[in-house]
Amino acid sequence: MRFIFVILLLLTLPAAAHAEKLKVVASFSILGDMVHEVAGDVIDLKTLVGPNGDAHVYEPTPADAKAIAHADLVIVNGLGFEGWLERLIASSGYKGPVVVASKGIAPLAFKSEGLTQDPHAWQSLANGKIYIANIRDALVKTDGTRAGMYRIKAARYLQQLTMLEAWVKAEIAQVPPPQRKVITSHDAFQYFARDYGVTFIAPLGISTESEASAADIAKLLDQIRAQYIRALFMENISDARLIRQLETDGDAYVGGTLYSDALSPPDGPAASYTAMFHHNVTQLLEGMGHNNGQQ
Ligand SMILES: [Zn+2]
Repeated sequence: MRFIFVILLLLTLPAAAHAEKLKVVASFSILGDMVHEVAGDVIDLKTLVGPNGDAHVYEPTPADAKAIAHADLVIVNGLGFEGWLERLIASSGYKGPVVVASKGIAPLAFKSEGLTQDPHAWQSLANGKIYIANIRDALVKTDGTRAGMYRIKAARYLQQLTMLEAWVKAEIAQVPPPQRKVITSHDAFQYFARDYGVTFIAPLGISTESEASAADIAKLLDQIRAQYIRALFMENISDARLIRQLETDGDAYVGGTLYSDALSPPDGPAASYTAMFHHNVTQLLEGMGHNNGQQ
């Protein structure tokens, strides 16, 4: 009971302490939503790469440098995802903590395109829970007066992610294993693949910076036919032309848009990390249903 009173007190504090709001910068929209889940509105949160934005090839603005210069805490994905960030932080003169949200996850190796590890770790909810723990610990360390609130909100959200994880596994389990294959444009779903048993084939590789050659496309079409894959997906951050080309050349079913590296705008179907999983899994199930040769 006293605990609840303390929470209520903490929730009423921000209005009075407006000028002292902790300034937090998150590098991209998915991370921004995670930080918001743990901190709510008691912090002043700035997300650099917004909804539908591509963090692989982002070009920072002067406003980004200014936000970092005034920040109390900067939270990044790490694993080489934000290649532009180190220079941005250095040029801003920021000397505060830079917290890597993916710290402690088991990274998938990936040696190409200047990367050594696959950065898309958030596409596993088990990893997402590690992100939340890291975000919580960073907020507690930087803003100890609100430690209790951060811990309570994080614990509640972690519970939600555990329930969502069980739902994802139960949904995927409905699809016979040979049918669990899909084509996406860039390779953002290997952590999802590892945890939930779906094979993702992506002609663009792990970063959106590369382009598929005619030979890549021909090889992919062979693979699609040999493995009876009909489920193709566009992504919110990638060019749809490649997938449309495969659709025209092959016997394919284009199953809408997956949200890989960014959330949708607030009125879209993937406006939060949890909504993104709901949307992607629903789309995947529908798409994979077309892999058995039926229309
Ligand atoms: Zn990506």
